[in-house]
Amino acid sequence: MTAAHYRGRIAPSPTGLLHVGHARTFWVAQERAQAAGGAVVLRNEDLDSARFKGEFVTAMIEDMHWFGLQWREGPDVGGPFGPYTQSERRNFYQATFEKLREGGWIYPCTCSRQDVLRALQAPHADGEEPIYPGTCRDSSKFEVQGSKLEKRINWRFRVPDGEAVCFTDGGFGELRFVAGKDFGDFVIWRHDDVPSYQLAVVTDDAAMQITEVVRGADLLLSTARQLLLYRALKLEPPAFYHCPLMLDESGVRLAKRHDALSLKSLRERGTTPEMIRASWKT
Ligand code: GLU
Repeated sequence: MTAAHYRGRIAPSPTGLLHVGHARTFWVAQERAQAAGGAVVLRNEDLDSARFKGEFVTAMIEDMHWFGLQWREGPDVGGPFGPYTQSERRNFYQATFEKLREGGWIYPCTCSRQDVLRALQAPHADGEEPIYPGTCRDSSKFEVQGSKLEKRINWRFRVPDGEAVCFTDGGFGELRFVAGKDFGDFVIWRHDDVPSYQLAVVTDDAAMQITEVVRGADLLLSTARQLLLYRALKLEPPAFYHCPLMLDESGVRLAKRHDALSLKSLRERGTTPEMIRASWKT
């Protein structure tokens, strides 16, 4: 990859206030882009309308400016790969969905969340979705008429059971996850007619010509899923760089509920971005 071609991205979801964990990941993304002579794109990942709030879009842009983050393209500044707000990109997601459906990569699933949980043999890892037991995988128990718009249907990607998905991560080195063991058939389009995070992020990173994805280590398994999507769609995947997660003093992963560590409340208490960055070095 030539330096001039490096394109990174910052992709917050406006479901709460940004905290120091986000700031660190975004800062790494910016530093890596600058070191490669490239730039980052800002993408507003507002697909989850149940959890998304308009006020957080304004707040996150304000917090990111305050922190010293700069993006060359984004919802507030425009750019050649817009729109940069996921809720305005439905036609892109629909096109990806059709490709996957035509290629036979996905199948309709009528299991409820409860069904999936009940079929589990062991409790799943914290925060990760349960491995789908495959109930509807080869089912002919119902005819799908029409499309994804049909109620109660989740469309799932059929993972190649037993296959190892391997990649070299810029931060963690060589990684290997096994399809069907570390993660199962995952949702591509939700029963409430919303594209899934996995589908949207692959569609957007490819369409926006992102060359390296920098994000938190909580998304490592999602990267493995996404690599399968890139392959199914015959798209070149970007490079990946995962940042270690920030923990609070009791070892719990920072989340948007950690209000005291939000950039907004730190700013209000007189903390400066320089002080925050200095604290990462200790
Ligand atoms: N929007 C996602 C989040 O805030 C990040 C997705 C990504 O970096 O791929 O959790």
